Amino acid sequence: MGRWLAAVVLAVSASVLVSGQTPPAGAPRVTAVVGGTIVDLGGGAPIPGAVILIENDRIAAIGPASTTRVPAGAEVIAANGKWLLPGLMNMHVHLGLVLPGRVGAELANETEAALALRMAANARASLLSGVTTIRLTGEKPNADFALRQAIEAGTAEGPRIFTAGEIVGVTGGHGMRGGVIGNDGPSEFRKATRKQISLGADWIKIAVSGGIADERGDIGAAHMTKDEMEAVVETAHRHSVKVAAHSGSQAATDEAVDAGIDCIEHGYYLPAVLARKMKEKGVWLVPTIVVSRPATRPFFERIGSPEWYMARVFAVGEQHWASLKTAIKEGVRIALGTDQFPFEPNDGTTATIREAEYYVEAGMTPVQSLRAATIDAATLLGIADRVGTIERGRLADIIAVDRDPTRDITALRTISLVIKGGKVVRNSAARPAGAPPSNGR
Ligand SMILES: [Zn+2]
Repeated sequence: MGRWLAAVVLAVSASVLVSGQTPPAGAPRVTAVVGGTIVDLGGGAPIPGAVILIENDRIAAIGPASTTRVPAGAEVIAANGKWLLPGLMNMHVHLGLVLPGRVGAELANETEAALALRMAANARASLLSGVTTIRLTGEKPNADFALRQAIEAGTAEGPRIFTAGEIVGVTGGHGMRGGVIGNDGPSEFRKATRKQISLGADWIKIAVSGGIADERGDIGAAHMTKDEMEAVVETAHRHSVKVAAHSGSQAATDEAVDAGIDCIEHGYYLPAVLARKMKEKGVWLVPTIVVSRPATRPFFERIGSPEWYMARVFAVGEQHWASLKTAIKEGVRIALGTDQFPFEPNDGTTATIREAEYYVEAGMTPVQSLRAATIDAATLLGIADRVGTIERGRLADIIAVDRDPTRDITALRTISLVIKGGKVVRNSAARPAGAPPSNGR
């Protein structure tokens, strides 16, 4: 056995090669995931004892072992006793997240190079935690685009990245540092939107209301004017780019929906009448509920959050929870997002998985929650023809868990296998192995 082959076998501990032959040059790399039960999130019956054949980065065939032949030379991943589902998707991530407090203060003079390296580490930890696609909803300049490119080129390891670039903000609005002049008036917003798109933004992110992380001001204040929102949405849509709005305000959400917004982030205040309006207009909600739940307090303590910050977090908690329940009840389209690092330890699991569990506690079925974390998120991104399901022709983004997650959402806590684009990035028999670092540090 050559050194290279030995390294591969070591890296992929539970996998074996059916034959020692090297495939002929130019032949596709074939991987077979054998013996697991494929979960059908479309309402169909699961496929027990299944074979998933992966050629290079795509699923070439799926079916029962009796009828799906594993070709000689395929790398075989044993998944007996496992349940297989699509890789998780997290639609509200800041890989360069800096929050008020002690840890944030340590990052005050972070250089662009240090930021890029920190974001790369956070991307890798996200992927290892089972999250194969993320949407970045506001980063500092440049690093997100560079990281997206490096991951696509295979020189960095991480989830598929869709990024909004920098937040297109209003002077004095959420996320804008004091004294920094943002955008004012429709024409400045048009220009700023076009700038992000020219840099390669897949989305545009605006902040239409105040936020938790602002030391002063009402979270429910509506900072952007209607004509500013309309200018962003109209400009972005001309480029086939969608717009997401941070909103913790009923009035601002209402105006943003009227302005043609595609997605509302957080939705701290969302009465039924507004939820119904969002549903009618097909506007998405990305709840990030995990942030304001009491169980997240240890995280804020760990990063040395100041009292004013924690007070603001938990001041919106009850209303945020009620709003999520309302949105689920009214049938608003929901895609999973956390506003914490996808892998951030939270209540005994990761933020992404805890978020999915909260959706079930708030009224979703486990299948609905799993869809919010996979196919529905893919639909939000407009890539449901490539990811979000385990289907022939789709990119092979697959995770394995120990129990049936359609019966018990907490099964997500047992992720042991992560495949992205046909590449096995994690295959640990024991769960905490490869557990990502806390707070990306
Ligand atoms: Zn955010």
